[in-house]
Amino acid sequence: MQTQNQAAPGDLECVRRFINTWSIPNQTRVETDELPQLCHDAERWRDELSLRPPAASDTLDRLLTLRSDLRKSCEGLDDGSHLLNAWFSRVALSVQVKSVKGVPQIVVMPADDSCSAHLLAAVANALSSGTWSRLKTCGDCRWAFYDNTRNVSKRWCGMTKGGAEGRACGTIAKVSAFRARAAAKKSPVADRG
Ligand SMILES: [Zn+2]
Repeated sequence: MQTQNQAAPGDLECVRRFINTWSIPNQTRVETDELPQLCHDAERWRDELSLRPPAASDTLDRLLTLRSDLRKSCEGLDDGSHLLNAWFSRVALSVQVKSVKGVPQIVVMPADDSCSAHLLAAVANALSSGTWSRLKTCGDCRWAFYDNTRNVSKRWCGMTKGGAEGRACGTIAKVSAFRARAAAKKSPVADRG
């Protein structure tokens, strides 16, 4: 995973951090779930997720399911958006009209103090602004990152190690592709002979 230049805009960053409470750290390469511990530590929760602490309705089971469903959506596994739609009908959301640069726009707001509603309001607003599809997970380590490239073509969290904690996700794939192309270039010579 690489942590630079991955932040999502606005409240979508809370969603990205929430999804990354499950990760495969570079150092251990063992699946790690921080969510159960974070649920019992309001201060750490606020620091690491930039999100209000869980309300009574945000049970660990509910948050684990929400995180799993949000990750599936980012990984392209929510066919027909059934998972997201089920959440939108399950949590308290309201709609308001706000003026953005003088233009009235619909903004989805949480209608209670639950984390679930706050996260899903951010997802709804990201869907309407077109930024949701830029929240992706690395094809290698599954870390959630925001793709800020012009053509939305990023597939891995980082192409270089980028520091002590950086991982060269994508680099290995690029090297393999380069070698395959090089091998393909060589073979037509044999055919001509
Ligand atoms: Zn990665």
